[in-house]
Amino acid sequence: MTMDSLLGNLFAADISLVQRVTLAALNGASKSRDENVILCPVCGYDYVHPIASGVHQNDALQLIASDGTHIVRGMPPLGRGSAVVTIYQCESDQHTFASVHRFHKGRTFRFTVPIGSQQSIKPLWRN
Ligand SMILES: [Zn+2]
Repeated sequence: MTMDSLLGNLFAADISLVQRVTLAALNGASKSRDENVILCPVCGYDYVHPIASGVHQNDALQLIASDGTHIVRGMPPLGRGSAVVTIYQCESDQHTFASVHRFHKGRTFRFTVPIGSQQSIKPLWRN
């Protein structure tokens, strides 16, 4: 089954609008292109792997990692805003960095935050 036929079937199904637009976005990002490759901000290497992704809102972080979904409570607040974060690890010296989208008063800010070299962390997936 192709992605287009899968989307056709899903769009015909009773799914929410947010699911539909998410699927349309994933379909639009289905082609691998060199200009879309994420580079390590430390060394520039193009082999980086997502190891976690999540949403921070109020005092909670909902985080998806290779071992499942975690809800971390007691997080420091981000003021009135919230954030979406994806953590990556580079294959070169385990450089670890975050791509953070922070939202505040209708504006969205994008940051790339190096976190230093960490021990190897199992990626969300690898094939
Ligand atoms: Zn690197």
